[in-house]
Amino acid sequence: MIINKSNLIFGIPSKIVCVGRNYAEHAKELGNEVPKEPLLFLKAPSALIFDGDEILIPKKSEQVEHEGELAVIIGDKCKNLKDSQNPYEFIYGYACLNDVTARDLQKKDIQFTRSKSFDTFCPIGLVSKAENLDISNLRITTKVNGEIQQDGRTSQMIFDIPFLIRYISNQMTLNRGDIIATGTPSGVSKLSNGDLCEVEIESIGKLSNKVISGS
Ligand code: ZN
Repeated sequence: MIINKSNLIFGIPSKIVCVGRNYAEHAKELGNEVPKEPLLFLKAPSALIFDGDEILIPKKSEQVEHEGELAVIIGDKCKNLKDSQNPYEFIYGYACLNDVTARDLQKKDIQFTRSKSFDTFCPIGLVSKAENLDISNLRITTKVNGEIQQDGRTSQMIFDIPFLIRYISNQMTLNRGDIIATGTPSGVSKLSNGDLCEVEIESIGKLSNKVISGS
């Protein structure tokens, strides 16, 4: 993993906070209810890879799936944000992220730690600075071998980004460089050896990763 000025400019984040079931259609496709408040889980920072790197399918899983997501990169430490504070002031930028998931292990384990945190399970694209970027209604697609599997809009999020930042900051301190993965639209599908998986978000960019069988 090579960290440079165009990807993780603040170095390895202290955490990657993910939001589960933040698009109604995705909650439904996995047979889950829409949550009444954000469902949070963590992904290990050691899972991070970048554009062009390979996603490795672990031998332990028979069902590794993509989850294309909009990632928020925190610019300033924030803790216990109040209603009077503007969450956007704490955002450095945005990127495409793939919340790669071993779906079979997620179901088996009940909680998400192992299924979400295998090495290479967190590809992230180049970071676009937040300045004047309106992210409230952007198209987000995930393609596998050029075919669209997921096709949603950020406007479909159940809990929007300002709400999420305020909410998370009241559960745990968000440090500079921390990443929030804001949930995935419907259409998750299985990744296999040799696939090319591409997450693309309008005005943000594109993240491409080849999939190979690992060990
Ligand atoms: Zn996800």
